[in-house]
Amino acid sequence: MSKLELLDAIAAEVIVCPKCPLCRSRKNAVPGDGSPNARVMFVGEAPGYHEDIEGRPFVGDAGKFLDALLAEVPLSRKKVFITNIVKCRPPRNRAPRPLEINACAPFLERQILAIQPKFIVSLGSISASCMFPRAGLSFDSITKVHGKFHEALVSGLNVTLFATFHPAAALHNPKYKQLIVNDFKRLRQRLKEEGMIRRKSS
Ligand code: URA
Ligand code: SF4
Repeated sequence: MSKLELLDAIAAEVIVCPKCPLCRSRKNAVPGDGSPNARVMFVGEAPGYHEDIEGRPFVGDAGKFLDALLAEVPLSRKKVFITNIVKCRPPRNRAPRPLEINACAPFLERQILAIQPKFIVSLGSISASCMFPRAGLSFDSITKVHGKFHEALVSGLNVTLFATFHPAAALHNPKYKQLIVNDFKRLRQRLKEEGMIRRKSS
């Protein structure tokens, strides 16, 4: 199967998935979006209100800020892949529970194995707290690990894990906004060094 076929097969399973209680309250599951050939994969926490309605990741206010961050690099949404730790919206946007995270984990693992990205970017503390242990790395706090490049093995795949704060945090606190902007500058620099981006398009 091609990468696209693998991702389509995963998405088809996700949209009818009954494996955890979040299936009961969702309007639409949100498998993720982007290129099967993405070199950079972004992993958020969980769909919110707008994502649940549209079935697409990061389409609300946090998504608009993420779009602006991507444009600065520049990275196109069409060339990266964006998904979440859990694919269905937790009621009232509460944090996903361990049972839900564990039930959903195989989907993300299969997406990573299908895409084989070079970089995985965790957006927010919940995402990082899931991805670091899965990469065999200890996770202390997002404040400690953010903005650094961690070479790791995720499901047998060599990846560089990079964590930053959740874009939604920036909407409430200018301090976080600046930290995320700075982290994305580091990401931009590293992707440039790797020859993965050229210059900023005008
Ligand atoms: N927040 C997330 O973590 N993911 C989304 O898809 C939207 C908001
Ligand atoms: Fe299935 Fe994941 Fe949705 Fe739970 S959150 S129902 S495991 S797709």
